[in-house]
Amino acid sequence: MNKEHTAHDELSSKRILVSLVKVKKYFSDGWRSLLSGSSKVRAVDGVSIDIRAGESFGLVGESGCGKSTLGRVILGLHKASSGNVLYKDDDIYNLIRNNRKAFRRQIQMIFQDPSSSLNPRKKIGRIMADPFVIHHPELSGKAVRRKSAALLEEVGLSAYHLDRYPHELSGGQKQRVGIARAMALGPEMIVCDEPVSALDVSIQAQVINLLDRLQKKFNLTLLFISHDLNVVHHLSDRIGVMYLGKIVEIAPRNRLYHQPAHPYTHALLSAIPISDPDEQKQRILLKGDLPSPSDPPAGCRFHTRCPEVLDICSQLEPQLVSVAADHYAACHLSHDNRGDRSIVH
Ligand code: SF4
Repeated sequence: MNKEHTAHDELSSKRILVSLVKVKKYFSDGWRSLLSGSSKVRAVDGVSIDIRAGESFGLVGESGCGKSTLGRVILGLHKASSGNVLYKDDDIYNLIRNNRKAFRRQIQMIFQDPSSSLNPRKKIGRIMADPFVIHHPELSGKAVRRKSAALLEEVGLSAYHLDRYPHELSGGQKQRVGIARAMALGPEMIVCDEPVSALDVSIQAQVINLLDRLQKKFNLTLLFISHDLNVVHHLSDRIGVMYLGKIVEIAPRNRLYHQPAHPYTHALLSAIPISDPDEQKQRILLKGDLPSPSDPPAGCRFHTRCPEVLDICSQLEPQLVSVAADHYAACHLSHDNRGDRSIVH
């Protein structure tokens, strides 16, 4: 049995931590809805995915595709318009209603912009102490400081950073504080919303390696949201590709990279720069911008930009179907959507 198969079997046998079933999140478009007569911004439009305990799940797509909204729905920061969001088989809105604090200890978040996620008026020591003060008021000030220092050391900073203000730290150091703060209460899962996109490229790799190390050391479940497939690749066991509020492909990392089934994934992969000057790669340029989520195209939402569009694509919406073990795609080019059993790609 090869290594990849063993890893795959191990992953698929893990218990499901978060389950989304046909989740929709629509927002009102305010006065534009009244003028245009259109209904709502369909940020997330019928997403079903399972995230397994201890896995790192990458969620990738262009800006505006709904991936950050989906992360916030999982955290309970946005209430889903319809569908079910389950955490260990329990409805998360019930969990929040019954014991908000206990739920918050289980799932934490790392934000995109480390500068705006830290209060500039508070020293790092105060920022790090906040979760302990709220959730563990029984701890003494000394114990909180000791725990905060240990967390900073875990993320590559030092105890003396507790006495610094955020403006005295670099962007990478601030994001390390954000990671340490997210780890403070020993969560089972962390939602990382574009955690490296505001950082310099050289720092991005350090922060990704740090998250990778912490995930393995503490057996964390990570939802890693990014517009950059290259960044997601380094950290993810499985990857979901999102387009205009829908998941269009889900596959284990290597499978998605080497045998993508959806034309949109092909296009995203073709845009990744390669370092070898001798290697040839044909870039697939998508026409136009992402259509409006208030008025998505009929049929396949990608049909207005798809280089492989078929006649049926504008009429019938393809379903997310299995194309291989643990690999799903929503495209009429894939076998079940065509009604035959031939494997494509
Ligand atoms: Fe392209 Fe059609 Fe597949 Fe959509 S269903 S991705 S338009 S080929």
